[in-house]
Amino acid sequence: GWLIASLAVGATLAWLIIRVFRARLSLDGELRRAIRRDEIGVAYQPIVDLETRACVGAEALARWHLHGAAIAPDVFIVAAEHNGLIRALTDRVLERIVRELGDFLEAHRDFYVSINVSAEDLTSRRFLDVLTRTLGRTEIRAAQIRIEATERGFIDADAAREVLKAFREAGHPIYIDDFGTGYSSLSYLQTLPVDVLKIDKSFVDTIGYEAVSSSVAPHIIEIGRALGLGVVAEGVEREDQARYLIERGARYAQGWLFSKALPAEALVRFVQGPAAVAATEQSSGTGRR
Ligand code: C2E
Ligand code: MG
Ligand code: MG
Ligand code: MG
Repeated sequence: GWLIASLAVGATLAWLIIRVFRARLSLDGELRRAIRRDEIGVAYQPIVDLETRACVGAEALARWHLHGAAIAPDVFIVAAEHNGLIRALTDRVLERIVRELGDFLEAHRDFYVSINVSAEDLTSRRFLDVLTRTLGRTEIRAAQIRIEATERGFIDADAAREVLKAFREAGHPIYIDDFGTGYSSLSYLQTLPVDVLKIDKSFVDTIGYEAVSSSVAPHIIEIGRALGLGVVAEGVEREDQARYLIERGARYAQGWLFSKALPAEALVRFVQGPAAVAATEQSSGTGRR
């Protein structure tokens, strides 16, 4: 009796484990193919000046559709980080930024795109070399491609610091993503070559719902001021959050209140705004070259 029962349980477990592994293997296989075939898309989320609502830059976010269904970056980026595909993915995202927005970046020299890099990308100068070579074929300035790194993204903190320093020396501003969710101390932060802190969405979510004394966002803004760094708030969904952030001295933000991540053409329309569209219509109405 119990022997058969436990055999059945064991067999079921083994079957489940095999299924899980198969699914993982096939996800990895599908991802490898998608990267090879250049099927990883990029959506660009506007970063706006809170005061004027002007779009000053955008964050490049990888997108992947498998058999018609969107797979969340939180799933496939983590998969890529575990199966050695992340470097190829980062390269693909960069290629696509240059392909889709290169002309726009060359024409708008103050506009920038930030790219998310993973821990693996910060273990050596490999990606910096790729970036330098890629931009060398264009008129895009180094300052127009910015690097977003997370604190948990440092496998080897000393190596990451050196690599970030090299990016910065090459002219690429450094953003610390999801700031405040990592474990790094303020003294450690002071040793990092950093230009901008991104306030994590979790600290923006709680604005208006917590005691003033326990809100984190104003403290991050204050740290930014003290260290002479810029601050970008992420995940702003409501006007009251935008107002709160402005009142406490934040200048830039991104979030669904302003725009979700957009395909390249939609981003360009968003940046140019209704005024630019009207101007274009007017000038094309008053005579063509
Ligand atoms: P992240 O870099 O912190 O990017 C911000 C995430 O918040 C994006 O999620 C964005 O779509 C989402 N978001 C922005 N505003 C709002 C809002 O108002 N409300 C809500 N609910 N969400 C908002 P996404 O695109 O799913 O990306 C998740 C994470 O995956 C990113 O977090 C980043 O860590 C990673 N990731 C995305 N693309 C890449 C990539 O090309 N390379 C690497 N290494 N990581 C990437
Ligand atoms: Mg980011
Ligand atoms: Mg972030
Ligand atoms: Mg985040």
